[in-house]
Amino acid sequence: MHKPILYAALSIVSCCTVFLNAGEDDAAIAADDMIKNLLQRLETAVLAGDAEAYLANIDTTASEWATEQTNWAADLAEHTPEMFDLNLLPRVEVPAELNPSEHVAALRMTWQFPDGGERRVEFPARFTLDEHQNWHYAGEAWTSVASEDGQTIVLFLTDDLQEIAERITEMMPGIREHVDTGFQTHLEHPQVVKLYTDMGHLQQSIYLSYTDGLGGWNEPGEAIKIMASPRMGARRLRILLSHEYGHVATFTYHQDVAENLPWWVAEGVAELAAERYSGDRAREGTEAAVRAWAEAGALAAWEDMADFRETPSRLHGHVYLQGHHFVGYVSERFGRSARNAWVRRLASGDSLDEATLEALGVSFADLDGQWRASLSADE
Ligand SMILES: [Zn+2]
Repeated sequence: MHKPILYAALSIVSCCTVFLNAGEDDAAIAADDMIKNLLQRLETAVLAGDAEAYLANIDTTASEWATEQTNWAADLAEHTPEMFDLNLLPRVEVPAELNPSEHVAALRMTWQFPDGGERRVEFPARFTLDEHQNWHYAGEAWTSVASEDGQTIVLFLTDDLQEIAERITEMMPGIREHVDTGFQTHLEHPQVVKLYTDMGHLQQSIYLSYTDGLGGWNEPGEAIKIMASPRMGARRLRILLSHEYGHVATFTYHQDVAENLPWWVAEGVAELAAERYSGDRAREGTEAAVRAWAEAGALAAWEDMADFRETPSRLHGHVYLQGHHFVGYVSERFGRSARNAWVRRLASGDSLDEATLEALGVSFADLDGQWRASLSADE
């Protein structure tokens, strides 16, 4: 949970505050008080499970952040913490003279659910002043780099990720082209990629109740979020980015894709998008795992993996591997265009039966049976 690396970066920043003159210091103190009031409003809203009151205090200028926070707040009604505490850590803001309508400070967020232990994250946070003199919370105080074509923006918090961030801006155009071609689509806006080095921080950014381990995350309209480290290899990066961008590509199919697409299809498609980068050995591993499940009678029922929130964690491995295998089978048998038509129909709200019959000309039950038969056939 703890992030020593963050302190190192912040202590560099905090050195600069000694250069402030008295007048600016007064302004900074007034801003401090107003931001403490803002933090209280956020705390009250969270503890009341009140998404609307929470969002009223959020700076929604950056569209991906606005979407992330809308989803974050929507979880509060169902999972309301019994403790939620926001604190600014002392004297770590950036120089106030740079921009009086912006304030950066280290934020500590602590929370607890009735059935869980205390959780805590710390990160440099940004607060902004609107034209009515109201402060809003704007999320992490990211540093950004953009690709040459301007279509990929990478956000990170610590200097040691600069090199990885720049590498991502170089690899994303190729990944986007590959995945867009495969799924016969393209994105109308730049894609933001956020880098996290702390699992607890990434989980918190999704929503407070999120606890599953993960390497990456994406939802419609959100940034691609990945766990990153300064020494991360190019192969691992490409796999993570292409998987997440696979989600982005299918999200262009329909506005309600996240609700409509069975989870195993969504992950199967994303794994397919990453196949070029994960390589033959990964594909062989998937093949072997799914065949072993088939032989042992341990394949999961599709309906048990349809909903992300309802899928038991013991089936999470099946979602990716079994989903990938099935979507790969559809691709090989029917071709790219038919597969994409099938995914498009599912994304638009067709049932598995409707989409399969319309796009592939076979009932889902028959297709499932044929796929199962293929698993016991010789490779
Ligand atoms: Zn995924």
